[in-house]
Amino acid sequence: MAISLELPKGLQMLQQQSHQVAQEVLRPISRKYDLAEHEYPKELDMLAALIDGMNDSGSSSGAGAAGGNGKPAEAKPEPKPEEEGVSKNGANMASVVAVSEMCWGDVGLLLTMPRQGLGNSAIAAVANDEQKERFAGKWAAMAITEPEAGSDSAAIRTTAILDGDEYVLNGEKIYVTSGDRAELIVVWASLDPKIGRSAIKSFVVRRDNPGLKLDRLEHKLGIKASDTANFILTDCRVPKEDLLGTPEIDTKKSFSGVMKTFDNTRPLVAGMAVGLAKACLDETRRILEEAGVEIDYDKPVNVQSAAAAEFIELEADYESARLLMLEAAWMADNKKLNSLEASYSKAKAGRTGTDVALRCVALAGAAGYSESSLLEKWARDAKILDIFEGTQQIQLLIIARQLLKKTSAELR
Ligand SMILES: Cc1cc2nc3c(=O)[nH]c(=O)nc-3n(C[C@H](O)[C@H](O)[C@H](O)COP(=O)(O)OP(=O)(O)OC[C@H]3O[C@@H](n4cnc5c(N)ncnc54)[C@H](O)[C@@H]3O)c2cc1C
Repeated sequence: MAISLELPKGLQMLQQQSHQVAQEVLRPISRKYDLAEHEYPKELDMLAALIDGMNDSGSSSGAGAAGGNGKPAEAKPEPKPEEEGVSKNGANMASVVAVSEMCWGDVGLLLTMPRQGLGNSAIAAVANDEQKERFAGKWAAMAITEPEAGSDSAAIRTTAILDGDEYVLNGEKIYVTSGDRAELIVVWASLDPKIGRSAIKSFVVRRDNPGLKLDRLEHKLGIKASDTANFILTDCRVPKEDLLGTPEIDTKKSFSGVMKTFDNTRPLVAGMAVGLAKACLDETRRILEEAGVEIDYDKPVNVQSAAAAEFIELEADYESARLLMLEAAWMADNKKLNSLEASYSKAKAGRTGTDVALRCVALAGAAGYSESSLLEKWARDAKILDIFEGTQQIQLLIIARQLLKKTSAELR
């Protein structure tokens, strides 16, 4: 059976549009906001409005993190399979395609695109219809991590205690991407820490809530265009209808409910790494060709120059990361359980992005290390994609648990 690795026509158009935006809007301001950390990239306001318009007219679709405008993915008509067993491409596929192209432009700028936060993906994954409607069009960040809970998100200590018609949240959240700029923050908190992970729920907290205090903004290695905020929540009152999903504590299902968010967001982060790797490869090809290195796909690698052989090897790695990303997104669109594939895609792309970026710096020589090219910036930007939404080690742990059929208590 022939396998077509090309995107269908509709997605090709989205890919081209996103690439053009990356080239004409993001690349020209990429270095500017790398140098001006914590300065808001105001150029993105107009771009975000354009993306909103495209979404409203139905010419694009997505589920947050630059795949859409924070409006519920279900609100858009999805192509109906004509017959049983025919697959479809929906919001998740559109999101990874758009995200990877935009990250060819700049990962940090993509991460700070108004109304495209990871919290928007969380809302799309877990909220009920009424909530999706209410939070439509808002920019939402995602706050899981705490000083004592990073990889082990079940260890979070922030509490949410019901008091009349409101939950009262207390705790500390760190490393919140877009935390300072977003309008909403999806905060993970426990209804009862004694019960453990099944009591963890997510709550939508408005950025202007007086109980939510910005503690500081981080200075970082890369993605400097994106703000990373730390917050203290002190008696932060949230209307009870802003708990996402159901308030019931089901010891069998509850935590897996919030974890479902990751099945949607991990392929997106994989998409970011795929886009960054492609940017590195395109720039390195240009530099190598300018230096007279010939890359010939018709010749075996052992008769080509070492630089060409290494370049082809990196391209193959990039391609396999891209295919795993597409598979994870396709499964989500077709309502297939994709936790394993989401982790495959995140682990492979996170590793590949960092590896490709650093080896491209090496292939380009001094030019790769200097600020005269963006390669040195991409090498710094790449690392975060192998850390947030679950580190490399955590993805491998999740994969091992699933393949070996072990619980999180049995394999940790
Ligand atoms: C720039 C940036 C943006 C971020 N944005 C967000 C955001 O928007 N929202 C949010 O909630 N969080 C965010 N984070 C936090 C991020 O998700 C965490 O940093 C990440 O989950 C790792 O947690 P940690 O830093 O506490 O490391 P730790 O969990 O302390 O891990 C330290 C090291 O130990 C390894 N390790 C831990 N446990 C195991 C194990 N069981 N087996 C093997 N190895 C293990 C890890 O892989 C890592 O290498 C962001 C972080 C950064 C740096």
